Amino acid sequence: MPTPSSKLNASERRIIFHVDMDSFFASVEIRERPELKGLPVIVGSDPKVGSGRGVVSTCSYEARRYGIHSAMPISQAYRLYPDAIFLPVNMKLYASVSTKIMELLRGFADRFQQVSVDEAYLIPGPEVRNFEEAALYALKIKDEIQRQEGITCSIGVGLNKLIAKIASGFQKPDGLTVVRPVDVKEFLFPLPVSKVPGIGKKTANTLKSLGITRVEELANCNVQLLSERFGKIGFRMKQLANGLDFGEIRENESLKSISRHGTFAEDTNDPVKITNSLDLLAESVHSSLLKHRFFFKTITLTIRFDDFSTYTRSKTIPNWTSDIFLIKRTAKLLLSKFIGSRKLRLVGVGVTKLRKRDENQTLVTDF
Ligand SMILES: [Mg+2]
Repeated sequence: MPTPSSKLNASERRIIFHVDMDSFFASVEIRERPELKGLPVIVGSDPKVGSGRGVVSTCSYEARRYGIHSAMPISQAYRLYPDAIFLPVNMKLYASVSTKIMELLRGFADRFQQVSVDEAYLIPGPEVRNFEEAALYALKIKDEIQRQEGITCSIGVGLNKLIAKIASGFQKPDGLTVVRPVDVKEFLFPLPVSKVPGIGKKTANTLKSLGITRVEELANCNVQLLSERFGKIGFRMKQLANGLDFGEIRENESLKSISRHGTFAEDTNDPVKITNSLDLLAESVHSSLLKHRFFFKTITLTIRFDDFSTYTRSKTIPNWTSDIFLIKRTAKLLLSKFIGSRKLRLVGVGVTKLRKRDENQTLVTDF
């Protein structure tokens, strides 16, 4: 979605969304089997009547009421509620739903960063000029995901990634929390320190021994004390507790790759034959790049010898490009070390570290 990003001033750009699907795996399972709606659904390894050794991957909010949570041993979940619905992990299904949701979210974004299978940050399109408009925009996103994919998500909106992330977790499930810049301290300070990303159980316990349990106490804590106890991280924690975060929205560079492989009709070490094949494959990769409107940064060569031993070599260049000559030249350069007496069975060319060819490259480098 090309946008006149240069027209946005810096303060207007500081509206960041964190979108997080609610109990994603369980929600997808329930969508596939509506009869499970309202039931405690646990997605994870086989509980084997309480003797299973795996863990809970995700569980529905109904299951959470029984004290069950993700990463808990499945045997413990079984003991807490043996009559819950236990389902195996169907990653293929979740991945396909995730791909669709991320594509949908991208359509709402001026800048986009997927952080996991069910979580992403985005900077909304230029029609969002303030936090009131951001709230309406977030509702539109939630509606679209519900309408197209039949599951709910929670969205947090804030002036940086940190606040957006904490806000998305604030009213789960199906939540929307907008934290205006003037409300940052009011929002953050009453929270337990464990709500700050990166502060796990262990750190929270250490902080507790220092008399720090709420974000406000951490925010106002003597930095010397924190540094002595935690080193560099101590200062960072204090910054976070004050709502300061300078993390950029990083466009995902390595989500996809485009590659083509070809097996020779007869194993060969003929350099002309091999480089001709390489050129053809490179052209095919290039036309796919253009079709999908991608730039790349990394060129990859794959070769397989007649004994099936396989090697991959790659080279990353400093600038985004879609230059076909660069693909060909680099692939040949990488190939040169493998040309010799041994015969090749297969050769392949690919490009990775892809990004969409849009006009937003200059946006948000000042966070
Ligand atoms: Mg989630």
